[in-house]
Amino acid sequence: MPFFPATALPGKAGRLLFTCAIGSVCTVVICNALHRPHVPSLDKDDAPAVSLRQPAVPAPGQFVGPPTPVRITESATVHETFSDTAQSLGIDTDTIATLTEAFAGNVDLRRDLRQGDTLSVIYDRPQSEPLAVRLTTGSSSHDVFLYRDSNGETRYYSKDGDSTKPAFSRYPLAFTRVSSDFSLRRLDPVTHRWQSHDGVDLAAPSGTPVHATAQGTVTFVGRQTGYGKVVMLENPPPYSTVYAHLSRFAKGIRNGDTVKRGQVIGYVGETGWATGPHLHYEVRIGDIAMDPLTVELPGDDRLHGEERRRFAKEAESLSAELAG
Ligand SMILES: [Zn+2]
Repeated sequence: MPFFPATALPGKAGRLLFTCAIGSVCTVVICNALHRPHVPSLDKDDAPAVSLRQPAVPAPGQFVGPPTPVRITESATVHETFSDTAQSLGIDTDTIATLTEAFAGNVDLRRDLRQGDTLSVIYDRPQSEPLAVRLTTGSSSHDVFLYRDSNGETRYYSKDGDSTKPAFSRYPLAFTRVSSDFSLRRLDPVTHRWQSHDGVDLAAPSGTPVHATAQGTVTFVGRQTGYGKVVMLENPPPYSTVYAHLSRFAKGIRNGDTVKRGQVIGYVGETGWATGPHLHYEVRIGDIAMDPLTVELPGDDRLHGEERRRFAKEAESLSAELAG
């Protein structure tokens, strides 16, 4: 932390002097500068002194604060996976999971990484979460920056303070009604057997466009028993989605294609086991089918106002450091 109680002034017991040994750190740290420790003030006329440059040299026997953060920039070349590379830079597994999610909005970490791509990080050691991370793939680079909220929760944002979490739409089409809910056990109208219904049925006229609810990669486009004409998408982890009973597919859509959120992938129909035109829509988290109407979806939690401006300014400095 750039500001911390480092010394008590001789003869002024209880008074805290905030110091920072590395002046440059104070100007660029994102999270800490926003959340300085509360400064106890004994009286208004004699407020605690704040110094950016005074070195923290405690006299013998005096209280010694946490170690002065040391700014470190490190890079590694991608050889195997993103995760391996991040690990080689000393990033812990929880943070790797957070970063994987943060980058998933811009990079498909399973497909887009190539030998020779680089991962660069800025740390304020001993903090374990990097302040800034840059993933360079080919000629493009993607940056994320750490933000710590007032509860101490950390998230990564884009340089402008926008959420790095990919946004999801709740509904893939304009539908007239939910004709069948998600349920663990229902009497299937076609097979007349009791079975689970792993999605929702959204009634709409044949030919209504069906949109991808989030960006993703097409893992299946074709016909399957029951589903009829179906498109399956692998969305940013851990999500995947299924769009079934389509009358036809969007022109040119192929296995392995990348689709954007909102892109038309097909049209409502009643192919497969359907008793009328509707979209059968599934959302899975890992292998578990969730109720698409209630499942928690990554939302838009961008920063606002002064907080956003300050964040963007500090991210700009860190970005320049990453460019080195
Ligand atoms: Zn259904």
